[in-house]
Amino acid sequence: MITQWFGTRRKNKVELHLHLDGAVRVETFLDVARRRGIELPTRTPEGLARYVRVAHDCRSLTQFLATFDFFIPIIQDGEAIERIAYELCEDQARVGVRYFEARFSPQLLARDGLAVEEVVERVLVGLERGQRAFEVGARAILCCMRHRPDWSMEVVRLAVRYREHGVVGIDLAGDESRFGAELHAEAYRAAREMGLHRTVHAGEAGPAHNIREALDLLGAERIGHGYRLVDDEELYARVREEDIPLECCLTSSLQTGSVPDLATHPVRRFVLDGLNVSLSTDDPSVSGIDLEHEYRLALSDLGFGLADLTRMVFNAARSSFLPPAEQRRLIAELKREYLPPDVL
Ligand SMILES: [Zn+2]
Repeated sequence: MITQWFGTRRKNKVELHLHLDGAVRVETFLDVARRRGIELPTRTPEGLARYVRVAHDCRSLTQFLATFDFFIPIIQDGEAIERIAYELCEDQARVGVRYFEARFSPQLLARDGLAVEEVVERVLVGLERGQRAFEVGARAILCCMRHRPDWSMEVVRLAVRYREHGVVGIDLAGDESRFGAELHAEAYRAAREMGLHRTVHAGEAGPAHNIREALDLLGAERIGHGYRLVDDEELYARVREEDIPLECCLTSSLQTGSVPDLATHPVRRFVLDGLNVSLSTDDPSVSGIDLEHEYRLALSDLGFGLADLTRMVFNAARSSFLPPAEQRRLIAELKREYLPPDVL
């Protein structure tokens, strides 16, 4: 049964919370650095892996984020960005992903002088090519950054401009302990008025209060992580009642120190209580994992069964930011993956 669920020929998974810049192959960093004449401390994939990937037992947000400081400068390049998006489709297809949403901050990838429009267009072209080559569905989410509220309106403008070309919504990422939601309220209001979908990183390392603010101040439709929900029973009941999707991750939440161990991971209670939970990798190349690894971890270390995993896949599908008709098609395709033909 388990082998069947994970069978390589199946496209039976959906992923909602995945950072494009945290999903880059080590070989790609090497190639891009070589082409751009960037000096690296090492020239081998094994050597470079130590700089762009955290140790599996990493338990520190600072250490986790330090890898980004190392490699973000390498990929400030249109060709590299398109390649990363394309290769991500291949990597996702390889672990049986049928549909995923990849997020990134256009401004963070444009620091070396690229136009933000070019960053977005390169990602969309890479995803488009990748979708066709590897038969996987992919859309983009544009991230606002907590520490740069001055970027947020531009993110909304870009999301509107490219909504017909693969951008399905916006996110708010970055340090939630130091920069409040109110700084981004105006941009999120504009996004809502324009009919853009909205997710927000909240309650990962920061308190449950941040989840409330994401919902009330920013009109978030989904919450990235949301683990601290367990500290506020009233809010917990509301999130369950309103069926608010929680984009949960396992390995990354340990490595950033947001959750001490899997045995007490809040996702266990979320699933038991029937909350709208799905599983994602967050930053697969930084964590050295893929989505299959996370699902296997849920089976081995969280005590979930295949039925729980399947429910999380359908939660992700029905909580995706796809337009309704495309979402219905995705769900129908997934049902065909899961049900024997005579049941349909
Ligand atoms: Zn994230």
